[in-house]
Amino acid sequence: MFDLLVASNNQHKIKEYQEMFSGYEVKVHSPKELGINVNPDENGTTYEENSLIKAKALAEFTKMPVIADDSGLNVVALNNFPGIHSSRFADSWGGNAVANLKLIEKLAEFPDKSAFFTCVITLLNVEDRPVVFKGICPGKILDKPQGEGGFGYDPIFYCNEAKQCFGTAPEEIKNKYSHRAKAMEQLIEYLRSKKLI
Ligand code: IMP
Repeated sequence: MFDLLVASNNQHKIKEYQEMFSGYEVKVHSPKELGINVNPDENGTTYEENSLIKAKALAEFTKMPVIADDSGLNVVALNNFPGIHSSRFADSWGGNAVANLKLIEKLAEFPDKSAFFTCVITLLNVEDRPVVFKGICPGKILDKPQGEGGFGYDPIFYCNEAKQCFGTAPEEIKNKYSHRAKAMEQLIEYLRSKKLI
């Protein structure tokens, strides 16, 4: 069994990783479960930088292979806003229930509703350098939220490939087409190539 620590306090992300790894000989651990509580300052200017900051902060505590996921929603007409500030934008409105409506409002004057989710995974403690995987999920912002599934911006995001909104899609559909799933596919491929799984 390959033990892997996911550097996230977001229980939705941990759950998605547990589900996506469920067909493999991988045991996903959370910092919470190991009694580790770190909240590094995500002051990078790219997903890659923030992902590395999070992975390094956790790797201080353990020799176990660690992955950190930095992700966000990029709205094309808004110059990819909120992007790496996705979490902060939601917090500034007290959570995604309001933030999602504010985003729809901001976009009202733009005919182009296209958007994409990005996920960058950084793996530490396997090689003596970070190994990075990136996934993109193209779609568009809906005129109103749909469903209660997933988390964050899922209820306002229509995924082109899944042909449905992530707020109404079953978990297995999101976990097949999402930005996280795309980055994960590469991570699995990598772990296999190293004969770790
Ligand atoms: P992070 O934890 O700093 O990477 O922040 C990611 C933020 O981007 C989350 O808090 C969500 O607001 C948003 N986000 C990332 N991935 C997803 C997703 O799969 N669905 C919906 N929102 C997401």
